[in-house]
Amino acid sequence: MMLSMTFPYSPPHSDGELVEIGPDVRWLRMPVTYAPDHVNIYLVRVAGGWLIVDTGLDSPEARRIWEEVFSGPLAGEKVVGVYCTHYHVDHLGLAGYLTERWRVPLFMTYEEYYTLLGWPDLPQEVPWQHVEFFQRAGFPQELLPQTLVMFDFAREISPMPLSFVRLQDRSHLPLDEEWQVIVGRGHSPEHALLLSKVRKILISGDQLLPSISTNVSVSVMNPEDDPLSHWLASLDRLATIPDDVLVLPGHGLPFRGARKRVAELRGHHRRRSQVIVDACAGSELSAYELVKVLYSFSLGDFDLQLALGECLSHVRYLACRGRLEARLDGEGINRYRSVRGVRAVNGGAGFCRD
Ligand SMILES: [Zn+2]
Repeated sequence: MMLSMTFPYSPPHSDGELVEIGPDVRWLRMPVTYAPDHVNIYLVRVAGGWLIVDTGLDSPEARRIWEEVFSGPLAGEKVVGVYCTHYHVDHLGLAGYLTERWRVPLFMTYEEYYTLLGWPDLPQEVPWQHVEFFQRAGFPQELLPQTLVMFDFAREISPMPLSFVRLQDRSHLPLDEEWQVIVGRGHSPEHALLLSKVRKILISGDQLLPSISTNVSVSVMNPEDDPLSHWLASLDRLATIPDDVLVLPGHGLPFRGARKRVAELRGHHRRRSQVIVDACAGSELSAYELVKVLYSFSLGDFDLQLALGECLSHVRYLACRGRLEARLDGEGINRYRSVRGVRAVNGGAGFCRD
């Protein structure tokens, strides 16, 4: 049977319009200042009121939109909780503001909550760990100061609540047992999707997006990680989501056809891995040189950093499986070459480590 995807809903305007998705779910869009230019928010009716799933980043405009929603379509109704799929600013920026405004709990996984709480402030100078990480990747030294942008996103987050209700894989939402948490990994440490088998709805955050492929990066914070393994294992689980389940993603349009999208994403990572293996068959290349092989167009500062992280996730994945060998050259740059006799790249199975 041919797998396919359908897109049954048109998007709301980013001005506080709510789109009704069945009797108990509403879809709202918040503007974001970088690509993609929006984040999807969902409101889920549970016992006693509404659960907000993801919040948008903290900005005067986003706060205004929320207040318009509360005094407009939700007038007379109560918010009883805030749920964040993961710690990235576009999804969590207003968690503190909203939980404080309504005096309601924040629902998050342990690793997402503490990753955000432990995030360093913007340093005065480039830390040595950054210098080493980017040098090993062959990244131009003059671009190093721009890599600090990752520490500067706290200004788009309202002060975090002092407590949270911990979500765990396969647990049920305390506010409504019909909703079950599914943890996905690879994009962020413990990303919490929300599935209702009764309503046939999966709120997928960034773990399953309809058109863009989610960023899966090795970062300076965790340079020996193998996030692509975690990501592919999470995809294996999402491949079991029936095709009649409506997927509500963090960006883009709601869709049916999770298995088709999972197949596309597996193919994407398999092709990327093969391009790297082929490129490293003829010559030893650094991760930065491989970015130029993978991305033919020019990239802005932040996108370049994401592309490098993504490239390293493939390099780590392949190195863990013996398909690439790394050699630290005299300039402190890791150079990769394909291991002869290992040509085919199969995504999905196996782990380098847990
Ligand atoms: Zn996102």
